[in-house]
Amino acid sequence: PETVRLLSSSQVITSVLNVVKELMENSIDAGATSIDIKLENYGLDRIEVRDNGHGIKAADTSVMAVRHFTSKICSHEDLEQLETYGFRGEALGSICAVAEVSVITKTEEDDISTQYMLDLTGNIVSQKPSHLGQGTTVSVLKLFKNLPVRRQYYTSTKKCKEELKKVQDLLIAYAVIKPALRFTLTHNKVVVWQKAKAADHRSALLATLGPSAVANLLPCHHHQEQPEILLDGFFPKPGADYCSTSSTSHDKTLIFVNDRPVHQKDIIKLLRQHYTAQYPADSTRNRPNCNLSLFDDEMALSCPETTGMNLASESPEKPMDNAVLGAD
Ligand code: ADP
Ligand code: MG
Repeated sequence: PETVRLLSSSQVITSVLNVVKELMENSIDAGATSIDIKLENYGLDRIEVRDNGHGIKAADTSVMAVRHFTSKICSHEDLEQLETYGFRGEALGSICAVAEVSVITKTEEDDISTQYMLDLTGNIVSQKPSHLGQGTTVSVLKLFKNLPVRRQYYTSTKKCKEELKKVQDLLIAYAVIKPALRFTLTHNKVVVWQKAKAADHRSALLATLGPSAVANLLPCHHHQEQPEILLDGFFPKPGADYCSTSSTSHDKTLIFVNDRPVHQKDIIKLLRQHYTAQYPADSTRNRPNCNLSLFDDEMALSCPETTGMNLASESPEKPMDNAVLGAD
């Protein structure tokens, strides 16, 4: 059973990035407004995610890391209206199988926080009082200590640095889609990235991508009934140089489906094609109105002059290559 557990867990937990994503999503699911992520040695020695969420109820702590335990859904029907990132109850248990895990948690009802040390199977081996405030801190030590081949992947500094960059990009995506969240990312005690609480998506974009990027973005909104689809996005102003830049532009296109960042090259390509067809890179015309339409599986982007929301007060200036799109 140990080998089976290790093998299946290593399929769920594949990288430092993956651990950070799972822990951070648990924090967001717990209603946190503040998330601090600390990495040591690029996450190989330690990954710590601390939040100020609702904490884990005493009754749940003994099973929190047991395979398939989740407090997020109770019935099959709950799957229909899922409002959390997690629902499978797989992450914590899987991380336990490939690292040394401890959890400190405190709910509103608890007088003090408690630290739980977990074993490879996700069971609590010991516990002791701790001093942290409300919320949860998960520490993951010696990731992939029992999977030498996985760990070997990280022997080159180049790979480690790439991974750190990916973690940062992941946080940027969540920071944009969840504006109210405050984030810090620390590596070897140095803060490498942080973002304060923002009022809305535009402010979050401003905080993550910078003022020059946001100045050239136009908000777009589309609502379709039957089947109900809500599309919200920010697109480069017509005339902006959306397509002529290098492949790095792809990285700057953020797409979310139900608040989940997705990396769908097809969607990016489609958006790009429609956008460039409508607005060739050399177009300098100013079309202030932007509209998004959906036809079956196809998405069309158009900016008719007479319809849509009039959102632009500024004229198109510097070219830029960001597009942010969210759909529900
Ligand atoms: P899932 O997210 O699919 O429910 P996980 O394995 O990620 O499964 O987490 C298991 C359970 O542990 C969650 O359902 C939740 O009850 C609890 N939990 C994990 N992390 C946190 C956290 N940061 N705050 C509150 N509860 C948490
Ligand atoms: Mg989870």
